[in-house]
Amino acid sequence: MKSEELFKEAQNYLPGGVDSPVRAYKPYPFFAKEAKGSKIIDVDGNSYIDYCLAYGPLVLGHANEKIMGKVAEQLKIGSAYGVPTENEIKLAKLVIKKVPCADMVRFVNSGTEATMSAIRLARAATGKKKIIKFEGSYHGAHDYVLVKSGSGAAGLPDSPGVPEDTTKNTVLIPFNDKEAVVDLIEREKNDIAAIIVEPIMGNVGFIPPKEDYLKFLRQITGQNNIILIFDEVITGFRIAEGGAQEYFGVTPDLVTFGKILGGGFPIGALAGKKEFMEMIAPAGTVYQAGTFNGNPVSITAGLAMLNQLNDDFYAESKRKGKMIRTGIQDILSDNNLNFKIVGLSSMFQLYFTDKEVYDYDTAKSADTEKFNQYFQTLLKNGVFIPPSQFECCFISSMHDNEDIQKTLEAVEKAIKV
Ligand SMILES: *Cc1c(COP(=O)(O)O)cnc(C)c1O
Repeated sequence: MKSEELFKEAQNYLPGGVDSPVRAYKPYPFFAKEAKGSKIIDVDGNSYIDYCLAYGPLVLGHANEKIMGKVAEQLKIGSAYGVPTENEIKLAKLVIKKVPCADMVRFVNSGTEATMSAIRLARAATGKKKIIKFEGSYHGAHDYVLVKSGSGAAGLPDSPGVPEDTTKNTVLIPFNDKEAVVDLIEREKNDIAAIIVEPIMGNVGFIPPKEDYLKFLRQITGQNNIILIFDEVITGFRIAEGGAQEYFGVTPDLVTFGKILGGGFPIGALAGKKEFMEMIAPAGTVYQAGTFNGNPVSITAGLAMLNQLNDDFYAESKRKGKMIRTGIQDILSDNNLNFKIVGLSSMFQLYFTDKEVYDYDTAKSADTEKFNQYFQTLLKNGVFIPPSQFECCFISSMHDNEDIQKTLEAVEKAIKV
């Protein structure tokens, strides 16, 4: 069957025809057949240069041979044990070696679970209830954090089924705005348990922190008995070995990971300072559990992934990111367009706005119609990016200069429609 028919059929059995909402773009999403390196191939026989890369995990491209080899070995000896394995220690040690704030790690199954547990831990550690979250930041699909602003009034749930009682302790403020933080903390510091932040916002496109903003957050949380949580589900192991905390030189109390850490398999992790981590059960009393926590297949894949992320990988990510962003900027300039090409290392996005983007509101100034035409034209020309203006594009180690050259030719066409 072809993608179009499959999508029609899928809608009878899967809500909206997909298992995660962003995948259902119009008129129908392509269905994957297979993927290798920088390419993904659909059931209709088209091949695309892939900058979605499963929304982030695949920094070494699809079907990385070393990872697949280790996973194949693991599969022969079991897929889940319900008892600990030595590889969990190895992966934890590797994370601790790389990540400044990490003294200990708890492995879970998704980024969602990681942030949910981090928030619980922060509340337990401080004995306070409220958390500060930034407008437009995404920390997974659980109730505490499913609050944005956008069409709903700030502070109200963003989805039906999330009780106001659950989100009344989630306080929203704009990113990159120091005063909003100062004001809020002055008023409510005795109630605020944590600030949770994506050090680079990667779920409304790409928004970096302003100069010193993260340092400021570190300082003000430290002075007020507030836990600073970096959600590095996207930035972790990507923009530097130690993630955004290494890159920006700011050490949070807790960090959450997902995506890359599983080498293409489901995973999440919560890590941080020992004084907090030892509060987690069974060392302490803060409950956290999972049937598949520390799953041997994901852990094996994660080890095989992290072991390949050497200096050369980071240098190449930087070089290719720069190549694609400079290339797109040149195309924009040649066509007298003032859209904003943004990014860092292997992350990039093109905002269809002439405004500087520094928070949720300015990101929302982008023309999503225009973006959709751009997306569709890229697709027709063999380039797959995430189908939303408010996602980020990723480059893998398998994208070569020829891929990037072809991509720039497609961008040139797509930008003019
Ligand atoms: C993807 C993402 C999550 C959620 O991770 P899942 O594994 O999809 O649950 C949380 N935080 C950030 C920053 C993310 O990008």
